[in-house]
Amino acid sequence: MLGPVLLAAARSDRMRRVIAAAPLTRPVVNRFVAGDALHPALATVRALAAAGLDVTLDHLGEDVTDKATAHATRDAYLRLLESLRDERLGDRAEVSVKLSAFGQALPGGHDIALDSVRQVAELATEIGTTVTLDMEDHTTVDSTLAVLGELRREHPRTGAVLQSYLFRTEDDARALATAGSRVRLVKGAYKEPASVAHQDKKDVDLAYVRALRILFAGDGYPMVGSHDPRMIAIAQELAARGHRAPDTYEFQMLYGIRTAEQRRLAQDGARMRIYVPYGADWYGYFMRRLAERPANLAFFLRSFSPTR
Ligand SMILES: Cc1cc2nc3c(=O)[nH]c(=O)nc-3n(C[C@H](O)[C@H](O)[C@H](O)COP(=O)(O)OP(=O)(O)OC[C@H]3O[C@@H](n4cnc5c(N)ncnc54)[C@H](O)[C@@H]3O)c2cc1C
Repeated sequence: MLGPVLLAAARSDRMRRVIAAAPLTRPVVNRFVAGDALHPALATVRALAAAGLDVTLDHLGEDVTDKATAHATRDAYLRLLESLRDERLGDRAEVSVKLSAFGQALPGGHDIALDSVRQVAELATEIGTTVTLDMEDHTTVDSTLAVLGELRREHPRTGAVLQSYLFRTEDDARALATAGSRVRLVKGAYKEPASVAHQDKKDVDLAYVRALRILFAGDGYPMVGSHDPRMIAIAQELAARGHRAPDTYEFQMLYGIRTAEQRRLAQDGARMRIYVPYGADWYGYFMRRLAERPANLAFFLRSFSPTR
C-alpha cells in the first residue's frame, strides 16, 4: 500500500524539500548512496574492487528540465571516466546512465541525449569499459532502446536494462538476446499503470523468470539485477543447465543491500557487480529504495525515533 505513495513522493518537489532538509535523513541516505561527490565514490569503488566485486557507477540525477543541466550531467560522467582511467579502474568499473538526466524529456530530447551519451560511450570505450542505459518509466522505453541501437553500432557492448513488470519485456528480451548484447534484467522500480505493467508482485516475479529464461537461452550477456534469492538460484540453475562459463553472465545488486550475499557470490566464483550511486541529487533514487521494501522504510523511520 505504501509503495505507490512513496513512488508518487519520489517525484514531488515539495516532499523533496521536506525530506532533504530533515537533519536525520543523511545517515540513512548514506546506507544507499556512496557520498555526495566523486572522491568518496572512488574510494568505495576501490574498497569493493579489493573485495573482488565489480562496480557500475551512477552519477545521481534524473528528469532534467534544461539543456545546461543535461550538459552538466554529461560533464560529470566524463570527469568520472577520466578518474577511472587515472586510477586504472576501467577493468573493474563501468557506468550506468539515466537518459532523463541527459535531457531525454526536453523538446528534441532524443537527439540531445544521444549526442551527450555518445561522448560518454566514446570515452568509456577508450578506457576499456562500458556504459549501461538504466531504464526509467514506461514512456521512455522506446526512446531509450532507440538510443541503445544507435550507440551499439559503434559501441556494441553498451548495456540495456529490461523491467519484468512491463508486458512488453519478453519481446524486448528476445530482440536483445543476441551475441555480445549486455542486458540487465530487473523487476522495475517505477509506478506504472495496469495498461502496461503487471501490478501483482507474483506476476512480476513469474515474468522475471520467463525473461531470465529467454536471456540465458540466447547468445547475449545476461546481467541478473536482483536481490531476490529465488531469482538468483534460478539464474544459477539456468547457467548450469546451459553450461555457461562464469564470465558469460553476471549478478548485480545495489550498494548497501544484501552486502554479505554480494561477497558470498563473488567468493563462490560468480561475477558480481555493485551498482554504486553517488552525488547530491539522491532524492528520487532514495525514495524508490524506501518504496520497494517496508524494512528499508522502517530503518528510515527508526532514525527519527527520540530513543536513538
Ligand atoms: C543493479 C540494479 C540495477 C537496477 N536498475 C534499475 C533500472 O535501471 N530501472 C528500474 O526500474 N529498476 C532498477 N533496479 C531496481 C529493480 O527494478 C527493483 O526495484 C529492485 O531491485 C527490487 O527488486 P528485487 O528483485 O531486488 O527484489 P524484491 O522483489 O524487492 O524482493 C524480493 C526478495 O529479495 C530479498 N531482498 C530484497 N531487498 C532486500 C534487502 N534490502 N535486504 C534483504 N533482502 C532483500 C528479499 O528476500 C525479498 O523478499 C535495479 C536493481 C538492481 C539490483
